[in-house]
Amino acid sequence: MADNKNYTKKKIGDHELKPETLMMSYGYSPFFSEGSVKPPVFLTSTFAYQTPEDGEEFFHLMSGRKEAPDGDRSGLIYSRFNHPNAEIIEDRMAILEGSEAAAVMSSGMGAVSAVLFAFLQAGDVVLHSTPLYGGTETLIRGAMAKFGVKSQSFENGLDYVSMREAANKGKAMGRVAMIFVETPANPTNSMVDFALLNELADELAKEQGIRPVLACDNTMLGPVHQRVVPQGIDLAVYSLTKYIGGHSDLVAGAVCGSKVRIKAVKSMRGAIGLNLDPHTSWMISRSLETLTIRMNHAAQSALAVAKWIQSNPYTPVEMHHSALEQNQRYRAVYERQCTGYGSTFSFDLRAPKATAFKLINALSIFKSAVSLGGTESLVCHPASTTHSGVAKDIRDRVGVTEGLIRLSIGMEHPDDLIVDLDHAFRAVFGAKD
Ligand code: PLP
Repeated sequence: MADNKNYTKKKIGDHELKPETLMMSYGYSPFFSEGSVKPPVFLTSTFAYQTPEDGEEFFHLMSGRKEAPDGDRSGLIYSRFNHPNAEIIEDRMAILEGSEAAAVMSSGMGAVSAVLFAFLQAGDVVLHSTPLYGGTETLIRGAMAKFGVKSQSFENGLDYVSMREAANKGKAMGRVAMIFVETPANPTNSMVDFALLNELADELAKEQGIRPVLACDNTMLGPVHQRVVPQGIDLAVYSLTKYIGGHSDLVAGAVCGSKVRIKAVKSMRGAIGLNLDPHTSWMISRSLETLTIRMNHAAQSALAVAKWIQSNPYTPVEMHHSALEQNQRYRAVYERQCTGYGSTFSFDLRAPKATAFKLINALSIFKSAVSLGGTESLVCHPASTTHSGVAKDIRDRVGVTEGLIRLSIGMEHPDDLIVDLDHAFRAVFGAKD
């Protein structure tokens, strides 16, 4: 009989176990729960203490008044603060991202909010790349501004001069306390260079006396095709609703980073009530088991589909797919930062919205819906949906045009998806010999 400490084992001898393997075992022992191979769903709002002394101690640990002997964990208290199903996936998310710790949230926007609220205060400035996911951009420019947090964006994350110029504008408004980026960005796959970002943060640290917290929304590629914490980014932010949940049947989020930073994030999570519920946490634990295989498979299909669209016989398109990008600077950063290209990309028909809508209406396998990273392929018109809250001049500048269409490729056979696209392109742009 294997000893029941196997659930914390990350190595056999000198051999480090791969994240794929640990997704089936790490952080949960069947012997916690009657031998049940899979964790039960702990449907409870509160947890009993053996003694009131334990209760007192758990509150000291949870609130940070005392350090836990193993460094990070208090006993179970109340499901708004912690519960076993969340803790299992937090351990596994940290393994996947290569971070010390992780905190799950009730949505991706919950994760973004917890990070902004935990590390910013009135008078601070958040410097950010653009485009960001529309909801994040709206939160920063709207709700955060209401609480006195200012923002300044930069559009070219591959160019130090323009990032530095934006930082100077930010500094003129207050202390640049955070740099928040999304790379590759939804929906244009534009990139931010982490080396430049760290250089900028170092300079700002010298000038301001505090180093801005670096946060990256890693939803589009991570953690299978990009890990950001090991590349010097303090916090990886995730919408687990996308690839990690992977089946378009749940809404969840996560933040990964150092133990110290995740403690601050969890404290904000408990204060404003953003923890993920046990059932959804359990669903994520099931999704994590197949994450690598799903993302790799979808990426291969997506590349085949993108290549067909790029060379389609009906109309020229401008393709935004990380593996098909020609710009040398982009390619160099992509090769350094990413290990794969994911399965979400967009293309610009350079045509009015009506033409984009006509194409979307002519598709039959692709479902017209927002979101991405599920088992089914989705088509979306960002300018009128996910990014409609972003001012039109900004949208146009960063490439979220009226003719831009985003695809998220799922588990269907790519040949079928290409036939669907071929029919739709032919219907809209006519047969060409
Ligand atoms: N970040 C990115 C890149 C997204 O695409 C989304 C949602 O579309 C979010 C964050 C927000 O996540 P959620 O919808 O889980 O709150």
